[in-house]
Amino acid sequence: MANPRQTLASLAVCCYTAAMSQAQLTTHMMHEALRQAQLAASSVGEVPIGAVIYQPDGTILATAHNLVETLADPTAHAEVLAIQQAIHKTGRKFLEDCTIAVTLEPCAMCAQALSLVRISTIVFGAYDLKSGGTTNGARVLEHAHHKPTVLGGIEEEACRTLLQQFFQTLRHKGEGA
Ligand SMILES: [Zn+2]
Repeated sequence: MANPRQTLASLAVCCYTAAMSQAQLTTHMMHEALRQAQLAASSVGEVPIGAVIYQPDGTILATAHNLVETLADPTAHAEVLAIQQAIHKTGRKFLEDCTIAVTLEPCAMCAQALSLVRISTIVFGAYDLKSGGTTNGARVLEHAHHKPTVLGGIEEEACRTLLQQFFQTLRHKGEGA
């Protein structure tokens, strides 16, 4: 059987060559990030936030989801883990030509990290009024040396619903305990 990850990667390439519009492309990227987020929620009980780093030809370089609980590490955000994976894989210090798709607006720490690795574009799903650091809150990219392009609100409802469902279930579990 074909490796689903490989199938997705080749699908991305084929979609790129078919000259998708920017909206189609960012939606396509966000669907993979959502899949990562769902993995986090269903298999390990993490807050469902997923991230995928894409190379310019549309192939997937890294996929990650939140592992804060699993690793007992409050900095194990999906974006940071995806960056580390991409750097280890390529041996490159910077990811200048890459795009990250993440289901929730990056926090200040992740926004800064994405600027440090000089990522080209940040595509995010749900806005995070409380802890977001790009469009909301500290808006760290405004003061950053490298300012990635930011496209927010991509598949926003699906990303937000996934988070809301997770916290609802958590509350129900808490009430039942
Ligand atoms: Zn973060």
